[in-house]
Amino acid sequence: MKLCVLGSGSGGNSTLVYSDSTALLVDAGFSCREIEKRLAAASFQPDKIRAILITHEHGDHIRGAALFSRKYGVPIYLTEGTATADRSLEKGDDLRFIRPEGNFAEGDLEIHPFSVPHDAADPVAYIVSNGGRRAMVMTDLGHVTVRAVEKTRMANLVMVESNHDVELLKIGPYPWSLKERVGGKLGHLSNDDCMELLANAGGPHLSTVIFAHLSRQNNNPNLVRLNADAFFGGGRVVFEIASQDACGKTYEV
Ligand SMILES: [Zn+2]
Ligand SMILES: [Zn+2]
Repeated sequence: MKLCVLGSGSGGNSTLVYSDSTALLVDAGFSCREIEKRLAAASFQPDKIRAILITHEHGDHIRGAALFSRKYGVPIYLTEGTATADRSLEKGDDLRFIRPEGNFAEGDLEIHPFSVPHDAADPVAYIVSNGGRRAMVMTDLGHVTVRAVEKTRMANLVMVESNHDVELLKIGPYPWSLKERVGGKLGHLSNDDCMELLANAGGPHLSTVIFAHLSRQNNNPNLVRLNADAFFGGGRVVFEIASQDACGKTYEV
C-alpha cells in the first residue's frame, strides 16, 4: 500500500492511498480540477480512484468531493452527521453512510473510521489497512484522546495534524475568538500535543510520520522540523512536513 499527501492545510486537504488494485482519496478539499492536477503531479490517473472518504464537513475537506464523485462515478463515504451538516455533498454520485468504529472495505483496502474531537457534526479520522500494514490519516482534532493514542500505536504510517505553535497562536493575527477556537479542545492539535502523542504512542512498527494541516499564520515548518529532528533524527522513522501548495512524496506503508 502507498500513501501520498496531495496537500494539507486550511486551504485544502486531500490524501491519496492505494494498493495494487484499489485507490482512495481521504478528503477532497481542493477543487476537482486542482485534485486532478495534483494527482497528475503524483503520476496518478484520477479515473483509478475508487472512492472518496470524508473526515468532516469543513470546506477544506470537502470542496471538490461532490464534483469529483459525479465526474468519476465514485462513492463518497461519510457519517450521516457530516452529510446532514453540509447538504452540498448530496450532489455526489453515491453517498454511503459510515459509523465511527464501523469497519468497511473498498476493494482490498480495509477502512476503520474512528471519532475525533473537533467542532464538526460527526468527525472521524481513518486507518486504512492492506496486508497487515496500516496507515492513519488524522487531522482536525482539538486534543489527544485515549482513542487517538490507541490508534496511533497500531499504525505503520501516521499522518497527523501539527497545526500551530501555542506561542505563535497567542501573539498571531487572529481575533481572540478564533484563537480560542483553534487552540480549544475542539479545534486543532498544537505542535506540542502532536509530538507528545508521537512520543507516547509511536510504536516499534512506526516507520513514517507526516506532519499535516500546518497553519500558515500560527506555525512555522522549521519549528516542526526542529522538534521532529530532535525526536526522530538519525532513527528509523522517516518524516515529512506536508505542504499546502504541492503534493508530497509517495510512501510505501
Ligand atoms: Zn481542516
Ligand atoms: Zn475542520
